[in-house]
Amino acid sequence: QQSHHQLHVVFVPYPTPGHMIPMIDTARLFAKHGVNVTIITTHASASTFQKSIDSDFSSGYSIKTHLIHFPSSQVGLPNGVENLKDGTSREIFAKICRGISLLQEPIELLFHDLQPDCIVTDLMHDWTVDAAAKLGIPTIHYYSASYFSNCAFRYIAKYRPHDDLVSDTHKFTIPGFPHTIEMTPLQTPDWLKVKNTANSKLFLDLAPTFESEDRSYGTLYNSFHELESDYEKLNKTTIGIKSWSVGPVSAWVNKDDERKANRGHMEKKFGKEKELLNWLDSKPNDSVLYVSFGSLSRVSHAQIVEIAHGLENSGHNFIWVVREKDKEEDKEGFLHDFEERMKESNQGYIIWNWAPQLLILDHPSTGGIVTHCGWNSTLESVNAGLPMITWPMFADQFFNEKLLVDVLKIGVSVGSKLNKFWLGIVEEIVVKREEIAKAVEILMGNDQEGKEMRTRAKKLGDAAKRTIEEGGDSYNNLVQLIDELKSLKISKALCS
Ligand code: UDP
Repeated sequence: QQSHHQLHVVFVPYPTPGHMIPMIDTARLFAKHGVNVTIITTHASASTFQKSIDSDFSSGYSIKTHLIHFPSSQVGLPNGVENLKDGTSREIFAKICRGISLLQEPIELLFHDLQPDCIVTDLMHDWTVDAAAKLGIPTIHYYSASYFSNCAFRYIAKYRPHDDLVSDTHKFTIPGFPHTIEMTPLQTPDWLKVKNTANSKLFLDLAPTFESEDRSYGTLYNSFHELESDYEKLNKTTIGIKSWSVGPVSAWVNKDDERKANRGHMEKKFGKEKELLNWLDSKPNDSVLYVSFGSLSRVSHAQIVEIAHGLENSGHNFIWVVREKDKEEDKEGFLHDFEERMKESNQGYIIWNWAPQLLILDHPSTGGIVTHCGWNSTLESVNAGLPMITWPMFADQFFNEKLLVDVLKIGVSVGSKLNKFWLGIVEEIVVKREEIAKAVEILMGNDQEGKEMRTRAKKLGDAAKRTIEEGGDSYNNLVQLIDELKSLKISKALCS
């Protein structure tokens, strides 16, 4: 029950899993720390996380969703398709973006009605800063990526080190970074290469709205001190924006198996957790490689064939999340035959479409991951103490790869070298089965390189677990932020 003095914070998430999941986990975290929380979202988005909210609410926390209508018919879409996911065509994608922009007015009216003490908003909703300012409410930016990538975006945009290169495949060094980080223009998002890309947001290339971030009260990061302390410092000192690292949030609010399984389930629930857990239980500790490219990315059929052979030839156990669409379009039945073969040999377990990722990563049999380096998957793997084979696809993922491989030294790079648009499949050089099998052997085998990487990953995993315990950095940051917001509420009340 809400009391008059209780801090009321409104969360406004953006409808892609990579943005929505961590913000919902953060909202739940605030509720667990005594804050009255309202999440403003649409029906279809809420259905992906309502179970977790209901379970927290029945445990006595003050958390609820406030549903708003997505203007489907106005933008020519059927009801319930507003969540951006892999397989959404460009045309539908543009309509969804238009629908999202039409939510601005009803959400602003809601801010007015609810009169919260603070608004936590996704970086894609840059208009919230002005809307909140009109009401005298602070806005906190939720940056669902790393300090490292925010620094990289800002420094590359400012200093444009790639402007003088003669080719897109030539390397430049990110200026001002404490580590030597080399990249090619091909690995950076398009909006950084082209000046003034008006529609960069339409292509969801994670163009951070620096300007609105600069005017917000501060930024919340799903990160933790030990993971990227140099870049946390760089961000605070040279970019000068107040920030709080409160991660890894998924580990903080999803401690038991039921919560892990409920978290972020998409429209198609996996639903066979028991079978999967039994399969994992039957494998030795640290022996299984989990392979996933996140919620949006897709690889070509030719690449799927190479991945399948690479995994099989490596001889290591694996769980691989494959899009159902890939099976439907696979007229020759390669994937069907591969799945049958893996069932027979018991080497691999294929999950169609959506996996209970937290359950898998945290299982003792899981020993490594092939990841597209989405920030959430990166952090969830770090928390589980796992080394990674990095296979970035778009947006900030190439920066995350650099952090994992060059700075933290817990990653082996194997994937694509081209930062591409996320919808559909961009044909590019296919990574061959031999390269994949070799990377798997480094990560999961007995070589010294792999052993050292695993030791470093385990150490970071321990740090991730400590930081969210009472007295840990992320724990303290959250408490400090909530206290600060409470003081603001009190001073506002005194002034009025
Ligand atoms: N996820 C999941 N099951 C899947 C694929 C993704 O639970 O089969 C979750 C994953 O745990 C993470 C989020 O979806 O929390 C994906 O976010 P990330 O930043 O890793 O990548 P994106 O999907 O945004 O590319």
